[in-house]
Amino acid sequence: MSDNDTIFGKIIRREIPATIVYEDDEILGFNDVSPQAPAHVLFIPKNTVIPTLDDAEPGDAALLGRLMLAAAEYARRQGFHQNGYRVVMNCREDAGQTVFHLHLHLLAGAPLGHFGAIGR
Ligand code: 5GP
Repeated sequence: MSDNDTIFGKIIRREIPATIVYEDDEILGFNDVSPQAPAHVLFIPKNTVIPTLDDAEPGDAALLGRLMLAAAEYARRQGFHQNGYRVVMNCREDAGQTVFHLHLHLLAGAPLGHFGAIGR
């Protein structure tokens, strides 16, 4: 367990339950406990904790790319690629980041509207 341990570390270690929908050597995907769309999956690195996107370094480029590709692969498997989907990564307070283990949100399954509203 590292100093950067979060609730997502517990999910990786199966210490708390989550509905895991995607897993490979580097990435875990599980349903968000508070879904904001019919499908809302979080993709996280399993073997390293990067607290925020702002903490990512050039050496993390491949891992960041794999997070995107894992989301795209999952979306394709589920058929979400046909109508589309959204991926989002929140960074720190103004974006509403609450878990400081970098993660990519995949939102899908319905028209999502346009985002960008301030102060909601
Ligand atoms: P953030 O706001 O940091 O970008 O996203 C964190 C997400 O983690 C939120 O959407 C929140 O609902 C989700 N979350 C927080 N705690 C848990 C948990 O214990 N289990 C699961 N599956 N999701 C969680």
